[in-house]
Amino acid sequence: MPVASSRREIPGEISQTPGQPEAGTSTDLLEVRGLTLQYKTPQHLVTATYKVDFSVLEQDRYVILGPSGCGKSTLLKAVGGFMKPVEGSIRLRGREIGSPGPDRVMVFQEFEQLMPWKTVLQNVLFPMRISGRFRGKDAQERALSVIEKVKLSKFRDVYPHMLSGGMKMRVAIARAMAMEPDILLMDEPFAALDALTRRKMQEELLDLWDQVRFTLLFVTHSIEEAILVGSRILVLSPHPGRVRAELDASTLSLQTMDTPAFGALSQRIHGLLFEHETGTAQNKGGRA
Ligand code: ADP
Ligand code: MG
Repeated sequence: MPVASSRREIPGEISQTPGQPEAGTSTDLLEVRGLTLQYKTPQHLVTATYKVDFSVLEQDRYVILGPSGCGKSTLLKAVGGFMKPVEGSIRLRGREIGSPGPDRVMVFQEFEQLMPWKTVLQNVLFPMRISGRFRGKDAQERALSVIEKVKLSKFRDVYPHMLSGGMKMRVAIARAMAMEPDILLMDEPFAALDALTRRKMQEELLDLWDQVRFTLLFVTHSIEEAILVGSRILVLSPHPGRVRAELDASTLSLQTMDTPAFGALSQRIHGLLFEHETGTAQNKGGRA
């Protein structure tokens, strides 16, 4: 995979037109354009997101950040192919997404996903075989290779309950990656964890990304988590979710948490999230 280009070089700078490709470039892996998503029930019409634009590049750690109810999970569902846009489009490698597919894999919280009666290797093999895409020796070799990539070779015959939380996440990611997806989707995977465990899991996820360089679309409502995990952050307004800004967090990490730059970006996101719907967010650049 080519290394993610940094089209938006200024740390923390707001992109004037989030997700709009520059002339002559078409390297976006996932392109979301003017995406409006709604739920229709007999009594109500709920608009979850309104005209959302963004693009995910190969090897991005792209974070969607916004308050509860702003449509983050709905967005991820639509990217997963489980929901059709009312307006706008979602393209993966230039092709409109119409239904769920193995090119987009959701990584759930480990405890929901791994089968306790299967070993690490069997857990990784299971969806490969069920999907019918990989069989016999080919499946086995592929599974062993991703298990090695996530540094769990020694634990391939171990059952999930014997692993730490971070290791279980590695298995869950290995299991997803064995299907050779273009993008991994994670919806608030650490939200239920205590603060220390959450930090450990964030570290594990970043270490794993360093080793494997997958493309990640990650949803959170935590500003700190967005900056830590994300290379770029899409800030959404409260319900219905509209794009407030797209910010570059690629230079900020666990090692720079105590720096003024980290604090400044955090402050700035805080301002964007709690700003009233004035439509002026795009004009407030240059403060990070
Ligand atoms: P988030 O993940 O950001 O918390 P959601 O995507 O879950 O937000 O929800 C966005 C909006 O859509 C909310 O107002 C929520 O109440 C509404 N919503 C979510 N799921 C459904 C559903 N199945 N039917 C009707 N409304 C829904
Ligand atoms: Mg949600």
